[in-house]
Amino acid sequence: MLTSSTHSKEIGVADLALAMASSLCRNVHDRKAILKGDRTPVTIADYGSQAVICRILQEHFPDDPVMAEEDSSLLQTSLSPELQQELVKQINLIHPCTTLESAMEWIDRGNTKTYSDRFWTLDPVDGTKGFLRGDHYAIALALIEDGEVVVSGVSCPKMDSDNCMAAKGCGAELNHRPLQASALRTFSSVRVCQGVESSHSAHGDAQRVADHLGIGSLRIKVDSQAKYTVVARGDAEIYLRLPTRKDYVERIWDHAAGALLVTEAGGKVTDCRGNELDFSCGQGLENNYGIVATNGRVHDEIIDALKALNIGQSRD
Ligand code: AMP
Ligand code: MG
Repeated sequence: MLTSSTHSKEIGVADLALAMASSLCRNVHDRKAILKGDRTPVTIADYGSQAVICRILQEHFPDDPVMAEEDSSLLQTSLSPELQQELVKQINLIHPCTTLESAMEWIDRGNTKTYSDRFWTLDPVDGTKGFLRGDHYAIALALIEDGEVVVSGVSCPKMDSDNCMAAKGCGAELNHRPLQASALRTFSSVRVCQGVESSHSAHGDAQRVADHLGIGSLRIKVDSQAKYTVVARGDAEIYLRLPTRKDYVERIWDHAAGALLVTEAGGKVTDCRGNELDFSCGQGLENNYGIVATNGRVHDEIIDALKALNIGQSRD
């Protein structure tokens, strides 16, 4: 377990909450999705995971706001009675005596929309499209204090049995072993990780960066914040998330937890212009454009290449 003089309770509670949510997600075999207003899918794993995590945060930190991805509005109107029942059944395996009403209350504990000095941010199932394909997904939880991520955990149930955990200034670990970013800096040998969905990250632009720097391998495609864990554990040197649209603003729950894992493993995370991620704007990374996470050694060259190729430099 990570040791921290200031946040040991937060680390323990986050670790436990992620373990419970991850057990719920592993148990969900009915992979039916409903579509939200933004046309992205949501499943009972997303709802169940958010309910379980918000409940445990409520128990241990009742005053902490939670900014999470889901809300219960579609649960009653668009989820079939069978799926509603299945959701309650799954949560009951973790918290007996849960009703649909109490599940909805816990989910909506995560509906904070505005920034405050201390709050949690949660993606209950990051990479839901991967989850639906039976591929990788992640459960990502982070505590933000004064605009900085201070504790985070990412569970990747298809990749690891345990959670990756990090605390600011205390390192990052998995299975009680420190996570350490790769020391490689030779572009012909570095490995680049990207998302699977080409609508979330411009694969063509990543190829242009690779060609510009003489990078050989663009083969690692993984859904969700599992990409940050791949860089943090040294299995890739670079994670590129290059903008596909001028108007898309990255959501903080898609990055806060993973970013701390990478920086505590010795890596670096910025946007495409080389600016640090700004977690003080509310739900969106309004002051950032695209994401670059690296082992640190190759970061400046990647940012220089993005500038030279004019990728992710301006929303205008
Ligand atoms: P990934 O698995 O890395 O593709 O990331 C999944 C996340 O991408 C989801 O949680 C969405 O919040 C986010 N997303 C949805 N649309 C976009 C977009 N146009 N650009 C970047 N990310 C997006
Ligand atoms: Mg997500």
